[in-house]
Amino acid sequence: MTSDFEAQLRSVSLRVTRPRLAVLAALHDNPHVDTEAVIALVRKAHPAVSHQAVYDVLRALTDAGLVRRIQPAGATARYESRVGDNHHHVVCRSCGAIADVDCAIGDAPCLTASDDHGYAIDEAEVVFWGTCPDCSAGRIAH
Ligand SMILES: [Zn+2]
Ligand SMILES: [Zn+2]
Repeated sequence: MTSDFEAQLRSVSLRVTRPRLAVLAALHDNPHVDTEAVIALVRKAHPAVSHQAVYDVLRALTDAGLVRRIQPAGATARYESRVGDNHHHVVCRSCGAIADVDCAIGDAPCLTASDDHGYAIDEAEVVFWGTCPDCSAGRIAH
């Protein structure tokens, strides 16, 4: 798996470093986590990695397109390593849990706007809001 992450970094001409590999591994195993969670995950495996290093890595990986930053309205930014497929998210209004939702028809049909107003559209952001099963069942107390 580590070699996969190395290949990803090389494919976007980023130098392979331990913090970058650690962040990619953390996001691969834990999609849709916020910055604080990424820091905790990375430092569990690599205690010497600083908070600032994780911030810098997240920015570099996001800029390079290896990591996607999602920020539902009113929520903290989350990160995931599933990129390039324009999938959507469903967000729980109560606890903030996030799950992936594939496009309804084929790939990226939402990019076909009914009227693009002359814009060259490259992304469509759809967020579904609701209540997750745990919250519906009252299993998480708030
Ligand atoms: Zn919930
Ligand atoms: Zn996702």
